[in-house]
Amino acid sequence: MSLTQELVRIPTINPPGDAYEACCRVLGERLQRKGFAVEYVRAVGAPGDSDAHPRINVVARREGQAQGPCVHFNGHIDVVEVGSGWTVDPFAAIVKDGKVFGRGSCDMKGGIAASVVACEALIEAGLPLPGALEISGTVDEESGGFSGVGYLCRQGYFSKPRVDHVIIPEPLGVDRVCLGHRGVWWAEVETHGRIAHGSMPFLGDSAVSHMVAFLHLLETQLQPRLAHRHTAIPVEPPGARQSTLNFNGIHGGHPEQRYALNALGEPVGDLPTPVVAHSCRAVLDRRFIAEESLETVKQEVVDMLDELVRTRPGFAYTVRDIMSFVPSATPKDAPVVMATARAIARVLGREAQYIASPGTYDQKHIQRTGQLRDCIAYGPGILDLAHQPDEYVGIDELVQSAGVMALAVLDLQGVLPLMSH
Ligand SMILES: [Zn+2]
Repeated sequence: MSLTQELVRIPTINPPGDAYEACCRVLGERLQRKGFAVEYVRAVGAPGDSDAHPRINVVARREGQAQGPCVHFNGHIDVVEVGSGWTVDPFAAIVKDGKVFGRGSCDMKGGIAASVVACEALIEAGLPLPGALEISGTVDEESGGFSGVGYLCRQGYFSKPRVDHVIIPEPLGVDRVCLGHRGVWWAEVETHGRIAHGSMPFLGDSAVSHMVAFLHLLETQLQPRLAHRHTAIPVEPPGARQSTLNFNGIHGGHPEQRYALNALGEPVGDLPTPVVAHSCRAVLDRRFIAEESLETVKQEVVDMLDELVRTRPGFAYTVRDIMSFVPSATPKDAPVVMATARAIARVLGREAQYIASPGTYDQKHIQRTGQLRDCIAYGPGILDLAHQPDEYVGIDELVQSAGVMALAVLDLQGVLPLMSH
C-alpha cells in the first residue's frame, strides 16, 4: 500500500510524459536494495523522447540459483490526464475506506506495487528460486507503448532466452486472467475538395460535405454490420464482444480554433477565413475481433470510399494507416495462464475467469516484436475505474493479487510441486 502511494504521488502524466525518471528511480532504488541489478533504459530517438521529456524505463533483474525459467512483471508507469470531477486530490494518494485514491492507483501503479511486494516476499522467505525474477516499469503505454515495452522488445528485453513468462499487472480484477485483446486499426481518412469563397460555395467543392457523406455511409451500413459480428472470445465488458468503430476525431477547413464573443459582442481572436474546405480529415478507430482479418477490416472501408468515388461527383480520398495490431490471445493451456489460474484458486478459493481486453495493451509488443507468447495481464483493480475521476484500488485486492503473483512465480519455477492438482 505504501509503495502504491509513493508511486501515485509522482505525477507521470502522459502526454507529455512527466516525471518518468523520478518514478523509475523509486522502483529501481527499492529493487536494488533487494539484490536486483537495475538498468535505466532511455528510448533515445523513439516517439516522444526529448531532453525535456526523456522516455526512461527501468528494468530490474535478480538472478536465480540455477538456469530456471525467468518470470517478468511489466507495468506501465504513465497515467492519463487528471480530467475533471475529482473529489480528492488526484496525486495525494489518500487512503479512505480501505482504498488508495489517485490518478494511476488502479491503472496501474497498484499493480506494479503488488508485483514488487510479491517478489520481495519471495526473496524474504528465503526460498531457493531456480530462475530469475524481473520487474520493469515502462513508459507511454497510454500512447501506444512504442518508447516503453515496444522499444525494450526491439532491444531483446522481452524475448527468450532472457525471459520465459510475462505477467502484466493491469487492473483486470483479482480473479481474472486476461489472455489478450481485440485487434486495432487506426486510420486517417482525408476527403479532398476545391477551395472557394464561403459566400459562393457553388464555386467550390466542400471536403466537409464529402466527409459527411462518408460518415453517413459508415453509420448506416458498416456500423450495423459490425454490431452483428460477435466473437467467441470472452472480452470484458460484454459490449466489446463484437466489432466496433469509433470516430476519434474530425477536422475540416480552417485550422482548429475556438471562437467567442467578448462583452461587446465582438469576436475574440483571429476570425475564421470564409472558405469552402479543401480538406477534411477523420480518424477512424476500428477494433476488430479474432474472427476477422486486418486485410478485410481495411478493405471494407476502402470499398465504401470507392463506392462514393463511383456515385458521388467530385469525391476523392486518401487513407493513411496510423497504427494496427492484430488480436492477441495466449492459449489457456500456456504455462503462465495455468500457473496464475491455480494461484487464484488457491489464494481466493474460487475458479479463475478467463477474459480478453477490448483495447490493446503492451502484450501486443511482447507478442509481435518479442515473439514471446507466454504472456497475460493479471492484476488488482477494477478496469472500469481506469482513467476515471476518483480512481482507486482496494488494499485487500493489492494484498490478494500479490499473493497470487508470488504463488504463480513459485509454480512457474517449479518450486511448488504440491500445487499441481
Ligand atoms: Zn493500463
